[in-house]
Amino acid sequence: MKRHVIVTGGNRGIGAAIVEDLLAEGYRVSICSRTRTEFVDSIERNPEFSDRCYWAACTVGESEEIVAFVAEAVRRAGEYALYGLINNAGVAQAGILATFPDVESERILRTNLLGAIQMARAFCRHTLKGESGGRIINISSIIGTRGYNGMAAYSASKAGLDGLTRALARELGRRKITVNSVAPGYVETEMSSILTTEQLAQIVNRTPLGRLATERDVAAVVRFLLSDAGGFVTGQTILVDGGISC
Ligand code: NDP
Repeated sequence: MKRHVIVTGGNRGIGAAIVEDLLAEGYRVSICSRTRTEFVDSIERNPEFSDRCYWAACTVGESEEIVAFVAEAVRRAGEYALYGLINNAGVAQAGILATFPDVESERILRTNLLGAIQMARAFCRHTLKGESGGRIINISSIIGTRGYNGMAAYSASKAGLDGLTRALARELGRRKITVNSVAPGYVETEMSSILTTEQLAQIVNRTPLGRLATERDVAAVVRFLLSDAGGFVTGQTILVDGGISC
């Protein structure tokens, strides 16, 4: 079966690693983000991938943009049936809550949580028309399960995402749609650049496997959850953190 997967925030970092991995596996991939990057140019130029990828500007958290993006992605996918949604787009901002601006909390919750809910809704409206089921994977964070000093709004958004995973797993299970969270530990991307060198060194020290996660570690778990082998796993938050939370 020809399968189509939507990846939000697939223009760099973890999202880009997921996109590359899925294209290599033969999926059709539709990507949205606010900006276009060299990575997007490079996959569109690659003759192996160019006829199986689509990028469009779309702001996660803006419902109308999401509905239009998903409709266009489905229209362009042709014989590739919509099968997967990877809610990966996210923003983070550090700061103690007592002085943290409301506008920042709102931006984080709108993108990380409301955006994922809106995307899941648009995805379901298409996949529930068919019988072949599907997969929703929410990229949350170990900060959602453990908390982190100075990351209250971000932690709340990721814990909310894990709640969304469990509720939707129950709602959509009978329709053969699985829903899981993948919760990475610390990955060196633009987002984690808000951590200091000392904080990163401390994280490595406390990690049983002795290193930070890579984007590929996360992409490999996403690949498994999308595969037929991952078909009986639903409602779970899978930590990809080198054992730091064990
Ligand atoms: P990056 O900052 O590198 O990438 C974030 C992505 O989200 C970009 O593609 C960005 O594109 C997109 N994005 C942000 N806001 C929006 C929006 N409103 N609408 C559409 N796209 C948006 O982060 P990472 O790759 O590190 O993170 C990816 C996911 O993994 C996030 O959900 C993050 O919370 C999670 N995570 C990251 C960890 C880490 O250590 N890096 C650890 C645990 C979880 P653009 O700016 O062009 O819109």
